[in-house]
Amino acid sequence: MMWKTLLGLLFTCTKVLALSGNFWHITDLHWDPTYNLTDNPENVCASSGKRPTSSAGRFGDYHCDSPWNLINSSVYAMKDIMPDPDFIVWTGDDTPHIPNEDLGEEAVLHIIGNLTHIIKLVFPTTKVYSALGNHDYHPKSQLPAVQNNIYERTAGMWQDWLEPESQKTFRNGGYYTERLLNRPGFRMVVLNTNLYYDQNKVTEDMADPANQFSWTDQVLTDAAKNREKVYIIGHVPPGFFEKKRSKPWFRPHFNKRYLELVQKHHSIIIGQFFGHHHTDSFRMFYSPDDSPINVMFLTPGVTPWKTTLPGVVDGANNPGIRVFEYDTQTLLVKDVVTYYLNLTRANIAQSRWEKEYRLTESFRVPDASPTSMHRVLDRMANSHCYLQKYYEFNSVNYGLAECDSHCRVDHVCAAREVDFDRYEHCLEKEGAISIGAALLPIITTALSLVWLSS
Ligand SMILES: [Zn+2]
Ligand SMILES: [Zn+2]
Repeated sequence: MMWKTLLGLLFTCTKVLALSGNFWHITDLHWDPTYNLTDNPENVCASSGKRPTSSAGRFGDYHCDSPWNLINSSVYAMKDIMPDPDFIVWTGDDTPHIPNEDLGEEAVLHIIGNLTHIIKLVFPTTKVYSALGNHDYHPKSQLPAVQNNIYERTAGMWQDWLEPESQKTFRNGGYYTERLLNRPGFRMVVLNTNLYYDQNKVTEDMADPANQFSWTDQVLTDAAKNREKVYIIGHVPPGFFEKKRSKPWFRPHFNKRYLELVQKHHSIIIGQFFGHHHTDSFRMFYSPDDSPINVMFLTPGVTPWKTTLPGVVDGANNPGIRVFEYDTQTLLVKDVVTYYLNLTRANIAQSRWEKEYRLTESFRVPDASPTSMHRVLDRMANSHCYLQKYYEFNSVNYGLAECDSHCRVDHVCAAREVDFDRYEHCLEKEGAISIGAALLPIITTALSLVWLSS
């Protein structure tokens, strides 16, 4: 009897284990090959743009993009922490933040080549799904809607990761789709959303650059017919930047089209994984009756580079990498575990990548489903304690200041509303709540004074 119970337990455990899979997501590595430790703080790296580096060390500086040491350390940290993931998602931005004149097409290809090489070296047998970032082109952000040398040669570098049909669509538009790990019933869609970026002048007047929207619509329609579950990955996300009020990335008509696509096919899109922000955040998608139907996870960058975007105060981050735990039968995201390097500490002592947090533990939710992430958002919006926790994770434990009422509105509305009009409406609504909350003690005092004097 005892043996039977034990065997049963063993069987159940194996089954549970078999249902659970893991994959790595890394993004925004931004290698700066010029990084070198000199005595002149203005000359440590080209990506600082002459901003003096205050704490430059072996693993980098918050004013600089990643030195090779940091790139190397992050890829080997992945190997140490989880050496055998089911696959790796890599969502682009490989080159440093320097003027176009200081880069050039060959330099961009050289950098993509080196990063590809180290990932392949450390994970020789792991499937990698790789998307282009706006910095993976020359001139930066001008990714075209037609075949070109960079798409061609990158497809060549990634040929071990791409099936023949993927090679074809990638060479033409920088996007592709494949069955996820060749498993029937599961699909990966890799998008080139740099075509929708408002800095991209080449695609500005196009209704559907590289026919990517109609292609995705068709891919998802076929996937639904074949009863497939889908992950979507890309670089530039729709919606707004949570660190700068009313700052979107997509042009308005592209933002609308992307949102419609997700709403139309939400039942088969199980996860979306993007980068570009360098911060740790997420975006909710709702049905017309306001039920949570989808989530886009924004993974923090490896580069610690402090953004020069006007209006962002102290926008640096610690280097981050992330594991997604998922159900291999449904693709449901069960948990998100973020690892990071405390750059200041790494430069002084030794490099030690450590767990930053586990989503289900820190936000007390059962998984990372749309319903659970909606609950996380609700907690952030209504509890200062959760908001502050989210805020510190947002910059990977770099910015530890207080997230005040202005900050609360920025983060809550960016996570809640991808649609431009609804976002503006959210600012008004949440702003009014914040003012109300700030005024409440004053009103209460005034009322009690009136009451006392009457
Ligand atoms: Zn980036
Ligand atoms: Zn980017």
